[in-house]
Amino acid sequence: MTTTDLRSAILPTYGRYDLTLVRGEGSRVWDDAGKCYLDCIAGIAVIALGHCNPVVKAAAEAQLAKLWHVSNLYWTEPMLQLAQKLSDRFGGAGAQVFYCNSGAEGTEAALKYARKATGKPGFVAIESSFHGRTFGALSVTGQPAKRAAFEPGVPGASFVELNDTDALAQAVGPDTGAIILEPIQGEGGVNPVEQQFIEAARELATARGALLLFDEVQTGVGRTGTFFAWEHHGVKPDALWLAKGLANGLPIGCLLVANEAARGFEPGDHASTFGGNPVAAAAACAVVDAIDDALLAHVRAMGDRFTAGLRAIPGISNVRGRGLMLACDVEQPAGDVVLAAMAKGLLLGTAGSGSLRLTPPLTISADEVDEAIRLLGEAVA
Ligand SMILES: *Cc1c(COP(=O)(O)O)cnc(C)c1O
Repeated sequence: MTTTDLRSAILPTYGRYDLTLVRGEGSRVWDDAGKCYLDCIAGIAVIALGHCNPVVKAAAEAQLAKLWHVSNLYWTEPMLQLAQKLSDRFGGAGAQVFYCNSGAEGTEAALKYARKATGKPGFVAIESSFHGRTFGALSVTGQPAKRAAFEPGVPGASFVELNDTDALAQAVGPDTGAIILEPIQGEGGVNPVEQQFIEAARELATARGALLLFDEVQTGVGRTGTFFAWEHHGVKPDALWLAKGLANGLPIGCLLVANEAARGFEPGDHASTFGGNPVAAAAACAVVDAIDDALLAHVRAMGDRFTAGLRAIPGISNVRGRGLMLACDVEQPAGDVVLAAMAKGLLLGTAGSGSLRLTPPLTISADEVDEAIRLLGEAVA
């Protein structure tokens, strides 16, 4: 049997490309025929430090040789070390962490936390947002097409247009337990939140006794050129959650709650068998350590280089995003451009039918950025 024959054994929830990848190193991956690709999607903003990053690999392998799993009935060293590092990055008097294994699970933890901490059932979320595919996460995802076939969802969610401050002020009422934002919408099309809106969200949440929750699953861990995207705005949430880039491709997620936030969880309120898995947490420690000021400056510089290069390509418009979380509009259907780029050895994502999405490794070099721009220019020509 070839691997193609085996494809029917997978439930068709994804429209996958006709491409089987077998190996990766740095910003490049190889398919089963040996063809090399420059990877400017990086597992959808997951491979922060490049494929098979040797430092992360060494940290995971050292832990693999020591201890894989003991359940959350006990403490392990990596979970404590990672919590300390994330709490330090978050700032303030010390934040607290709940570990899970994915972005959607981070959303679930945040929704439960907000209801428990405030005693209020309502969630105010944003049109076009994306928070994951489980029922709670889907229920606060502002994309009706993704929800329609699975209604009814979790009650209590309402939606406002991104950056419509008046609509937000109207939507947040006495029953609102949380306002939920992505600092830059990812799956929804790479749409940045405006300063005025994020400040209004902070003020409204505080004034009306709701929690301000940021989904930093995609924007977090250095992606936008600061460790958390909220740092660009100086608006700190009561809690945020991370996943995608946190362990460079090993599954991990976490909810990070500010010390100043209303208290929520007690023993028995929430759990995850694999949450804080020692191997994933050890890898995540190596990732967080690697995201220092120099790497963050590199992300900003490569983001600027990419943005300038994209703007210079005829037929590309509306270049947007921050750091290495970028998108642009193309004249052809975005799916066609992705396939043309793939044929030339460049992997890209889409953000809706008319936009391309670029989330390369944070470690991408200037030469690789220039190569991506050249290949993309050929793909849209
Ligand atoms: C990817 C993503 C999620 C969902 O993460 P999963 O690990 O696929 O569950 C949630 N929120 C945001 C902002 C994301 O980009």
